Amino acid sequence: MNIVILGSPGAGKGTYAKILSDKYNIPRISVGDLFRKAIRDETELGKKIKDYVSRGDLIPDEIVIELVKERLQKDDCKNGFFLDGFPRTIAQAEAMEKFKKIDKVLNFVASDRVIMSRLGGRRTCRECGAIYHVKEVPPKVEGVCDRCGGRLYQRSDETPQAIKNRLRVYREKTMPVIDYFRKKGLLADIDANYPFEEVDKVFSQCEKHLQNLS
Ligand SMILES: [Zn+2]
Repeated sequence: MNIVILGSPGAGKGTYAKILSDKYNIPRISVGDLFRKAIRDETELGKKIKDYVSRGDLIPDEIVIELVKERLQKDDCKNGFFLDGFPRTIAQAEAMEKFKKIDKVLNFVASDRVIMSRLGGRRTCRECGAIYHVKEVPPKVEGVCDRCGGRLYQRSDETPQAIKNRLRVYREKTMPVIDYFRKKGLLADIDANYPFEEVDKVFSQCEKHLQNLS
């Protein structure tokens, strides 16, 4: 089954994609990871991507499409994939239909309040990068990393104002893609407002939508 994963920052789609990938034994393809790998391996596409990134420009659709197309043609995707981070534009969605059939689009949705508390409560260790949450995964001593004793801080993109901006940008950019898949009858909204202890409640919604796919 060929599954596209959508969801706003803080909706937990990366986490759920990983769980689904383990459960169904088909790979999770993160487009962010593909970019990083292509740059690291210095492939032809990787060199182009690096140029755009270093100039601070958006990577053009045709390059993103080529990268994803190459990856989805590999052997490990023959039984399907969970694709995270693509398509982000209508042009990408239309291009994808030409090289892969999409069976379902899982759209992880959480309220602004939940996202604010999830992302806004995150603290990151300056030394080792470990991630905590003031309510859900607090360190033993406030402000101090359990693992290495480093100082915890709030990332600049996780302040309330930055989160609001990220949500606004996400909605502006992704709404057309969501509408596109909804019209095609492929979209399944997943209520991702549950706390992480109740991950099963989110997972069972996904299972319901995936059960009749081969
Ligand atoms: Zn640490």
